[in-house]
Amino acid sequence: MIPHRDILERITDILARSKDVLILEHEKPDGDSIGSGLALALALSSLGKKALLLSQDPHPSMYDFLPGRHLYTMVSCLGPEDADPDVTVFLDCTGPERAGKALEYAHSETWINIDHHISNSGFGHVSLVDPDAAATGELVFFLLKAMGVEIDEDMATCLYVAIVTDTGGFRYQNTGPRCFHVAAELIDKGVNPSFVADLLYETRSLSSLMLLKNALQALEVYKNGRLATIDVTKAMLEDAGASFEDADSIVNYPRSIAGVEVALCFKESPDQTAVHLSLRSRSKVDVSEIAGLLGGGGHSRAAGAVVQGSLEQVKARVLGVLDGLDIWADS
Ligand code: 5GP
Ligand code: MN
Repeated sequence: MIPHRDILERITDILARSKDVLILEHEKPDGDSIGSGLALALALSSLGKKALLLSQDPHPSMYDFLPGRHLYTMVSCLGPEDADPDVTVFLDCTGPERAGKALEYAHSETWINIDHHISNSGFGHVSLVDPDAAATGELVFFLLKAMGVEIDEDMATCLYVAIVTDTGGFRYQNTGPRCFHVAAELIDKGVNPSFVADLLYETRSLSSLMLLKNALQALEVYKNGRLATIDVTKAMLEDAGASFEDADSIVNYPRSIAGVEVALCFKESPDQTAVHLSLRSRSKVDVSEIAGLLGGGGHSRAAGAVVQGSLEQVKARVLGVLDGLDIWADS
């Protein structure tokens, strides 16, 4: 059974009438926006349409193995007149501004918004927002089915990566029966789960491990062991020879400490004028609400925000906000 049939039919009608589709992922794209974007671009190409996946930021190198790279480009490689879409599809973006500089190219009359964040603003002419979907890739899977696309191994691999990464390898609370059904169908189409798992979870660069070693020195625990924080500074990145993307999964270490409910990772921006904050919770606290207080958003168990200021200023502000919350009781 295909969920959201009515909205999917409206989206299918719009895409069927269009020739040139621009697909936008969010800034600092993750496996979900990359996988769902590449899958949709491949599907539209298979129907003879022009499709371009546009990103403000580069794709992390761990996704280099994904097919469809010829359909993706970065804003820095495009001139202002190089995109003339009939329709723009936003994937995994809570609001249009999440596309960052790529938004400048979204000058089509029609916008389609496909997302699974509870904090999505409902923007766009047609919006398919389902917070029960484990990943935006799960929704794109149903879209491809509604479009009558023959999902091949390449599209299936992209969608599988979207679902695997957003569920943390089928471990997070958003892991429900539907994403396993979708994953099973994708494996039937030729996805090799152990190959994907090896590349995503069992392979890392030496520099990212050296960065972890540095960051663990900055691990701190507050609130009777219920809150843990970790910092990633510019100096740590330089010392380890690591890139900003190497810091992506470091927040999982403070969260893994027994008894910790909320974990924070403070990542200093390269120009040291802002901090990228990652928030995670184990089972109770809705960190998307906390991120919202700081101008960000996300999911109940994984959220983020970009906060202006030096690392010290941002840490003091964020810890002040958390200190005022009534969430630190032991049970
Ligand atoms: P991460 O900590 O991995 O960067 O992000 C975790 C979740 O929070 C992701 O679902 C991501 O889309 C969301 N998120 C991260 N940064 C921001 C932000 O600045 N604004 C909003 N609205 N969501 C964010
Ligand atoms: Mn997602």
